[in-house]
Amino acid sequence: MKIAGRSGHNPLASGADGLVNETTEDRKIFLSSKKYLEKYNTFIDCYPNNMVGISTELMWGINKANNNGAELFYSVHLNKAYTSYNGAIGAEIWLHPIAKQETKSRATAILKNLQTLGFINRGIKYSSELAELNSTTMEAMIIECFFCEATKDVELYNKHGSDKIGLAIANGIDNKINIENENNEVDIMKKIVLYVGDMDAMAGLYVAQKNQCPMMKKSDFESNKFKAETIITIGGKSGSNRYTSLKDAAALV
Ligand SMILES: [Zn+2]
Repeated sequence: MKIAGRSGHNPLASGADGLVNETTEDRKIFLSSKKYLEKYNTFIDCYPNNMVGISTELMWGINKANNNGAELFYSVHLNKAYTSYNGAIGAEIWLHPIAKQETKSRATAILKNLQTLGFINRGIKYSSELAELNSTTMEAMIIECFFCEATKDVELYNKHGSDKIGLAIANGIDNKINIENENNEVDIMKKIVLYVGDMDAMAGLYVAQKNQCPMMKKSDFESNKFKAETIITIGGKSGSNRYTSLKDAAALV
């Protein structure tokens, strides 16, 4: 699918300010959603970077989506209704009244994912007044992830982080993106030292410092399913003790 997306607003035409700043945080969430979506789709990034003028920058994004023949457009925002709010308000998605069933299903899926993360599901809202809905030539949705002034919403956001919210959006748009698999994806380290028993830790530290790489206990490394290109294992030989471990370590560096 050809997907066009952007985060709402930009530093020169900024959005809402609450306990967190909309322009800063919706950008992080959007970039996460993009990272997942572009694995399986053609992605058109409609973020204008630094551009003055609320309607100018809004139209720039809309025109880019239109000119590139995207099939779906989405923008990521944070909501705000009050100066301050003690509690939870939640997530909502805005669609045009003539949105296709397919788009409603995607919006419902995103909201369900956000609900799973603990956000109140405020459901789909309809408007024909919003530029991103009435000036885009393709199916479009405006995702209001949560309210930036609501204490409980921001608490949930800080707990999960922008990447999980972005993944919730990406999966709702394209269910080829599997939430569980992506959550389990770990970065592969270049090099790590693993020590087998606690008595091998000192020798491991010595080797790790020489190699300028991290060190951890072998069993922890394995239970976390971490991966590394080069693994240096210290200890674990039968009959070894902290002195033979150190001697082996000295031979390694
Ligand atoms: Zn906004």
